[in-house]
Amino acid sequence: MDLQLTDKEKRFREEVRVFINTQLPKDIRERLRAGHPPRKDDIVCWHRVLNTRGWATAHWPKEYGGGGLSPIERMILAEEIFLAPAPPPQVFNSNMIGPVIIHFGNENQKRHFLPKIANLDLWFCQGFSEPGAGSDLASLRTQARRDGDDYVVTGQKIWTTSAHQADWMFCLVRTDPQAKKQMGISMLLIDMQSAGITVRPIISIDGHHHLNEVFLDEVRVPVANRVGEENKGWDYAKFLLGQERTGIAGVGRTRERLAYAKDLATRVMSGGAPLTEDPSFRERVSLIEADLKALEITQLRVVSGQSTSESGKPDPFTSILKVRGTELYQAACELLCQVAGPAALAAQPEEASTDTRDLGLRWAAALAPAYFYSRAASIYGGANEIQKNILAKSALGL
Ligand SMILES: Cc1cc2nc3c(=O)[nH]c(=O)nc-3n(C[C@H](O)[C@H](O)[C@H](O)COP(=O)(O)OP(=O)(O)OC[C@H]3O[C@@H](n4cnc5c(N)ncnc54)[C@H](O)[C@@H]3O)c2cc1C
Repeated sequence: MDLQLTDKEKRFREEVRVFINTQLPKDIRERLRAGHPPRKDDIVCWHRVLNTRGWATAHWPKEYGGGGLSPIERMILAEEIFLAPAPPPQVFNSNMIGPVIIHFGNENQKRHFLPKIANLDLWFCQGFSEPGAGSDLASLRTQARRDGDDYVVTGQKIWTTSAHQADWMFCLVRTDPQAKKQMGISMLLIDMQSAGITVRPIISIDGHHHLNEVFLDEVRVPVANRVGEENKGWDYAKFLLGQERTGIAGVGRTRERLAYAKDLATRVMSGGAPLTEDPSFRERVSLIEADLKALEITQLRVVSGQSTSESGKPDPFTSILKVRGTELYQAACELLCQVAGPAALAAQPEEASTDTRDLGLRWAAALAPAYFYSRAASIYGGANEIQKNILAKSALGL
């Protein structure tokens, strides 16, 4: 089994690195490096720069403006973006609704939406989860009743990332309440300016506003905005959730956090010497690095196609990447808090500075919020407990 990059792939990595180094605005890089979440305009700006190369939609077919990259090249691109660090392409547009419209949308939808999705001229959010329908998503209860050329949608979504910033929401709704629960679901594209939509913020543990509740009260949605067939939304949702798993391990994201921890540790003193000389710090770094190397090799096996899911069942290797990837990311975020020591405890996002030369430790104030929010990584995108169920079933041959 050859898990080395070819010369062509190494050259591609260099090309991406040069592109990022010359194109990524310095203030975005500094904000992310300090541990702040990207702002909406950071994401829009960088997504559009990537789109000039087709790299915002690297796995879309070229005919729809995609990058036409191989799986390994896409993995390299995702890693280099994380390593910069730069914001990844807007995930709901690039990895979710774009591919769904390419595969299941009609010609009008493709023509109207795809260029705007690719260039982030329209910002989509994902209206799937509801109170009582998260891991068990098929229990969703938001109803869409047909009335002439419209559906009339009533219900509630929750944990809707960036709904307050979004122009549109792709939404799962129940169109046949009598059918078996997976069978009566449809997917609608809903304009967030429609009458009857109320977005309420959920402030998460990091003190930021990423998440929302979305209330839909008799919202009229043209039937023309349904993706694919009525009552087939579950199939499209499964397709959507299986899209573009190459970045799921987030190896570059964790490696970048580790590099930052090591860099800070050269300047933080412990017992009269830099923290980098502290044996227990070095041990913690080595353990994460060793696990990260193992994850990277597993990821290469998956991406190079040596592990493929048979029989349409969830791919257990994808679950391994998700579980280990998020655990290691969380470990690296925790390590950063340990580097900051008590200074991380004084965390108030507005106090945080991006200037790490400022060893009054204001730089440390962003690290605890980032660590707290990293805890969510093992919940969204399919909770780790659910991934472990998939692994257990696969090990038992079920
Ligand atoms: C930061 C963040 C952003 C999110 N963004 C979005 C978004 O943009 N759009 C959207 O639609 N949703 C979003 N979600 C929702 C996310 O998809 C759900 O939180 C997730 O699916 C879990 O559902 P739940 O919160 O209802 O928890 P539950 O499903 O109620 O689970 C609660 C706990 O029980 C465990 N559990 C549940 N079932 C089982 C089982 N069968 N076996 C073992 N353990 C089980 C879970 O793993 C979890 O630990 C986001 C969530 C977070 C945290």
